[in-house]
Amino acid sequence: MSDAVIHRLPELVINQIAAGEVIERPASVVKELVENALDAGAGHVQVDLEEGGAKLVRVSDDGVGMVADDLALAFEPHATSKLRDASDLDHIASLGFRGEALASMGSVARCAITTRRRDAQGALRLANEGGRRGDVEEVGAPRGTTVEVRDLFYNTPARRRFLKRPSTELSRCLDVVQRAALGQLGVGFVATHDSRRVFDVEAGMDLLARIRRTFGAELAEALVPVEAEDGSTRVFGFVAPPRFSRRDTARQMWFLNGRSVKDRVLLRCLKEAYRGFLVEGRQPVAFLHLAMDPALVDVNVHPAKAEVRFRDDRRLFGFLVNALRAGVSRTDMATPGEALLQRAAARDGLSLRDRRASHPGQSSFRDGGGLGVPRDSEPFVVREVPGEAPRASAAPRAVPPLVDLPDDAMHAPAAEDRLRGPFLQVARTYLVRALPDGFEVVDQHALHERITYEGLLRDLREGRVEVQRLLVPEVVEVSRSELELLLEHRDALARIGIELDAFGETDVAVHGLPARLRHPDAAGVVRDLADLLARTGKAPDAADVIEEVLHRASCRSSCMAGDALSEDEIRALLERGRELGAADQTCPHARPTRVRFTLDDLERAFHRK
Ligand code: ADP
Ligand code: MG
Repeated sequence: MSDAVIHRLPELVINQIAAGEVIERPASVVKELVENALDAGAGHVQVDLEEGGAKLVRVSDDGVGMVADDLALAFEPHATSKLRDASDLDHIASLGFRGEALASMGSVARCAITTRRRDAQGALRLANEGGRRGDVEEVGAPRGTTVEVRDLFYNTPARRRFLKRPSTELSRCLDVVQRAALGQLGVGFVATHDSRRVFDVEAGMDLLARIRRTFGAELAEALVPVEAEDGSTRVFGFVAPPRFSRRDTARQMWFLNGRSVKDRVLLRCLKEAYRGFLVEGRQPVAFLHLAMDPALVDVNVHPAKAEVRFRDDRRLFGFLVNALRAGVSRTDMATPGEALLQRAAARDGLSLRDRRASHPGQSSFRDGGGLGVPRDSEPFVVREVPGEAPRASAAPRAVPPLVDLPDDAMHAPAAEDRLRGPFLQVARTYLVRALPDGFEVVDQHALHERITYEGLLRDLREGRVEVQRLLVPEVVEVSRSELELLLEHRDALARIGIELDAFGETDVAVHGLPARLRHPDAAGVVRDLADLLARTGKAPDAADVIEEVLHRASCRSSCMAGDALSEDEIRALLERGRELGAADQTCPHARPTRVRFTLDDLERAFHRK
């Protein structure tokens, strides 16, 4: 007898282990089968599910179908029609390419493929249950291919126990179908669950119509299109206003040549495009297609094929950030007043919906829910309206002088609407003014903060930061290591308007700061800078410095809530806000600078509508 302990695993076990890479849950079955249907050139894909997909996933297409010899190989591991040799891996244009999916499913479920070529008389059927392959039979069926996967993991109970409730598995399956529908324009999709239709898009629907069908009209109507080209690379799609942002990235969708991808470079592009418009920790909503030569990207880096590697990601990054940022700045950043109304209603112990219900005949809710706030999004960021100025006790300070406007600014057509008319200052913080279709409330501090921030940003971009030299250098105490860090980057800091020098062993002397900071707090700037340098450990990048140091400084130096403003000062503040265009709708921390109440909001509040 031998003491040898190594033996070959039976093929079924090998396949079951490999299946773990590809098939984790019903949603992965849906993903692989839908990809196969699309690779077969389907114009219509039908997905039928039972019990969240655990009992049945069936995907039918009207694609090319298979001949008998191909069908006989379909369940074999590493059998594919999509690659011939390694060189094909450089330019993969299909969604699948590893030839693993059907083999994996065959080993962990009861599967059957029914298929009929366009030109064939009849259809063929092949079953594979738990790795045992049957024979190819002739059957009657329409053109195209149907793959059925029943009782997933019936022979691997440990895996089956990991499945969640049917509703959870169903929502994951639907997510896959919806992503495919948003990625594959020109293809129609239908999904059913326990014989009930749960999702559909017609082949003729464009991207916006598909988004509307999937996520509702509220979001679809607020989206702004993005479109740009750089050589053979094209980006197109939609970005949402910052108020639609969420805690997760579930509505941040990138499609690379139709394939849904989750890629770090692409995520960073979006983050960068929304820089300064989102509250910390919030994720923007966007749907973007990237069309590029398959040779410029490697999709063979991840088992689920969700991650990719771009050959020239620096260039792509610059191109995308510019394109996206242009779209983002055109979104409507105003905070709708209706969110405030909802809150006021809640305070009175009655939701508007209840009030509406007590006035039958007046109910006219869109989508039957809420106040048009997008479904399952968080409420808008709206601040409590304080009855008293938060800093009312602080001595009123003079408002910083405002730069002269170009002559024509006052005569621009939009100027009239935004600048004329009386203002009301409430609690020495909020400016209330009438608009042609309602009124708006401006937070003077937030607006001034945004003005200072945008000015700094522009200066830095144009490489001409005006420095205000301090008559008496301000000495700030720091640690030795902080001092070293600051000195190490002294030249880089000088280029962005922060001039400092050593002063003894644990002090720095600040000689100059950007002139835009009207009440500069040198100690605060130095401390924030030291913090940033210690954290990142590299030369300060202008964008980081703005983000983490100067915008805090601009906040500190802006006119604080509580300053009583003269009418001239109010006008000057609003004029400068107008110059910013859409950017004036939030402060750099993404608090709203202005909240708009439309006539519609008012009519709802007073039950006229
Ligand atoms: P891959 O998609 O990586 O090639 P699969 O295991 O998913 O591997 O599929 C194996 C092969 O079976 C495919 O290469 C294709 O030739 C064929 N096939 C699978 N699904 C379909 C379908 N819906 N229509 C036509 N052929 C299909
Ligand atoms: Mg496949």
